[in-house]
Amino acid sequence: MKRFATQLLFSLLLFYSMPGKAAQEPTALPIADQRYKADILLVVAHPDDEGAATPYLARALDDHKRVAVVFGTRGSSGANEAGAEQAAALGAVREIEARNALTTLGITNVWFLGGKDTASQNVLLSLANWDHGESLEQLVRLVRLTRPEVILTFLPGTFIGEDHGDHQASGVLATEAFDLAGDPVAFPEQVAGPTKRLEPYLENLRPWQTKKIYYFPDADREDIFRGKGPDYSVKEISKSSKLPYWRMALDSFRSHQTQAKSFLDKVAQMDEAQIEKMATSDSFWTEALHFVLGKSLVGGSVAGDVFEGITPGAIPFARPEISPEPAKPELSVELGGPYSFYAEFRRAHGLTHLPHPEPPEIALQGHTIMVIPLWVRNRTAKSQEISIAASLPGGWTAQSGTGKFTVAAKQVAAARIEIMLPAIPENDTKKPEPQEVSVRADSNGQTIGEIKLRVELRKRTLPQ
Ligand SMILES: [Zn+2]
Repeated sequence: MKRFATQLLFSLLLFYSMPGKAAQEPTALPIADQRYKADILLVVAHPDDEGAATPYLARALDDHKRVAVVFGTRGSSGANEAGAEQAAALGAVREIEARNALTTLGITNVWFLGGKDTASQNVLLSLANWDHGESLEQLVRLVRLTRPEVILTFLPGTFIGEDHGDHQASGVLATEAFDLAGDPVAFPEQVAGPTKRLEPYLENLRPWQTKKIYYFPDADREDIFRGKGPDYSVKEISKSSKLPYWRMALDSFRSHQTQAKSFLDKVAQMDEAQIEKMATSDSFWTEALHFVLGKSLVGGSVAGDVFEGITPGAIPFARPEISPEPAKPELSVELGGPYSFYAEFRRAHGLTHLPHPEPPEIALQGHTIMVIPLWVRNRTAKSQEISIAASLPGGWTAQSGTGKFTVAAKQVAAARIEIMLPAIPENDTKKPEPQEVSVRADSNGQTIGEIKLRVELRKRTLPQ
């Protein structure tokens, strides 16, 4: 023990008394750690979501691109097909499964934001459950650490489809981080130089402006995304592995035993031709991955290669151009919730070109309550009476939120209509078709709002 203490004292003395070598050679100032530099940063919600992009990532890795991945959650909810672990323990297992899946492809720079799984189609619930501010702070930090040329993420929007709120939240956060990480006054403690040796607070990162952001949608429809970005065949053969990209993606997916053991066991019984048919079918990767160009700050064509126009080196910070707010009448009723959020989001982030359904759409489970969120705006100088009526398909019943209301002068109030949806018999084999729901608001004998929604009833969906 005494000997150890003497040694420690000696090394401390040595450390503090090192002679300045400035007289001979200049000291190189520390720079960013090159091991963490990425060309592509993939931002997704759950372990296994990376599968939406792995056939493309395998191709990019062939071209010597460096890839890093951020997951929003550890995927602690849902069934465990491989063991008894549930909840947070399941999340701990799934973190390893996701890391293993990516290691299979050669990707090791992987982080988790620490959000919690949120079973809903409403992005606002996911953002609340993920501690939006904290998650954004961490994602901005990871963008500054990895300095990606391109961010790849879920399309922020709501559609008929799986439409997972967590998937949307990853796309919202990735877009926000794209627009903030280059801003030296956003989370400035991250980009400040250290004030002392072993600085414990300030991070000494640099602002980083990512050059492009691309999205992949979590929607059933494909029509409105076609031609909005590049397509990448999943059938082409990898230069490095001599396997088709879909096969590399499937091999990577094998790590997700807790989510897909029964499926993977089935695959193990199939021959190669059957596996290929399945992996390149509509319920899997189809023939090609389709991306939607969100923004490019370096030019290039919409459907051109992801790296078109990108040259090495930093580009200046580009503050997003905010489109002007559309003129609003003095008294109005509009769709609220995620729908109005996304309209504002597209405007705030220079994404007004981003495909979105008109009228808005959603798939809902039969025999549940559908909520239509509304904003009631009264910019006039006096209290106003409004009446709200819903026109619904047969068998759908408005339970609350229709009738007469007042809204005080100069106020914006949230309201909602609740509709009981009819049950769908389990033996019903009809392909579901969207039906139209409309809401009309009147005041003083004039219509002040007309809202339409396309709603598809299904046997199972995530809650609204
Ligand atoms: Zn997911």
